[in-house]
Amino acid sequence: MALDLSSLPILDHHCHSLLRRETPYSAAEFQRFFSEGGDDGIVANHTPNTVFFRWAIKELAAFFDCAPATEVVLAARAATPSANLAARMFRDANIPVLLIDYGYQGAETFSHDEMKARVPCRIEPILRLETMAQELILQHETFDQMVEAFVATVEGARAAGHVGLKSIIAYRTGLAIRETGKAEAAETFAKVKERARRDGKVRLADKPLNDYLVLRALEVAEKQQLPIQFHTGFGDADLDMLLANPLHMRPLFESGQYKHAPFVLLHASYPYVRELSYLASLYSNVWMDVGLAIPYVTLDIPALWRQAFSLAPTSKVLFSTDAYSIPEIFWLAARWGRWGLAQVLDELIAIGAFNRDEAIEAARQILGENSAKLYQVAL
Ligand SMILES: [Zn+2]
Repeated sequence: MALDLSSLPILDHHCHSLLRRETPYSAAEFQRFFSEGGDDGIVANHTPNTVFFRWAIKELAAFFDCAPATEVVLAARAATPSANLAARMFRDANIPVLLIDYGYQGAETFSHDEMKARVPCRIEPILRLETMAQELILQHETFDQMVEAFVATVEGARAAGHVGLKSIIAYRTGLAIRETGKAEAAETFAKVKERARRDGKVRLADKPLNDYLVLRALEVAEKQQLPIQFHTGFGDADLDMLLANPLHMRPLFESGQYKHAPFVLLHASYPYVRELSYLASLYSNVWMDVGLAIPYVTLDIPALWRQAFSLAPTSKVLFSTDAYSIPEIFWLAARWGRWGLAQVLDELIAIGAFNRDEAIEAARQILGENSAKLYQVAL
């Protein structure tokens, strides 16, 4: 009998807040949630032809008990109050705990307190480093003041309720993070501050300063054993995919300086899934996440799990959705993540590598317990 993992709870250790918007979505608007950074032509003309979108519509039609057509599903969705829809989907997906990075889409999305009131989940926040640094660049005049405030914020992250850190350096200046001297970072700060003064806002994508700040955060993570998530692999339109290869981080792991800092490499590093599995198998402080790749890569999800287990121990693999905006993405990721995982665990049982109890235990770890231990969060 095939494994059924639906009763095993999910601790979604990397996801984002839901959009505030209440008005119904047109098909064109809804399609955007199923395209990762595609241009308008992709979204309008081609997204409906992705497996992701077609399969999602069928799944959602079953959820709403309606005909499997986009307009019908959207009408059913519009007839359900959005808070009810979210509550139903999180319950059905059996996701009792969320670790949320609120640094994405800002004011358009619900705040921490609003999310807690809205979904039937316990929620703990994650501190996004680059957006926090941008605020501090605007607030402080000198490099020393800014760095001091940055380090103090990271040092106080746990006391302020954060259960981990998150860096998006992959799609700012890349994962080849190198030791950077204070003088060079300060010189870069002067230029960045100039831009901030001129524009009243700033996007931090200046390698010496990005590298310098992430290294300071890593020093704190090392001291406090505070998990630090890194975006790796696909997932953003302005991303240089070559610089998002997690192998660029190997010198950091080899240096031994951050041996006690738990590195959580997000998105299965897709398409560098084997590279990540390799790193997670070599370094005790490197963890392999699968979010975003699940649900996006649909048909490739079983292959993703297979590649994860090719090298990485099951105690090093973490499930997340990386969902944002609408509850449907959380729900689909949970369904398809469990589906692919069950399929691959069934294969392991069939070849005699795992017995049934071991397979269920591995699933329980991956879906929740590994993250509960890592982030010191109850499940
Ligand atoms: Zn994310």
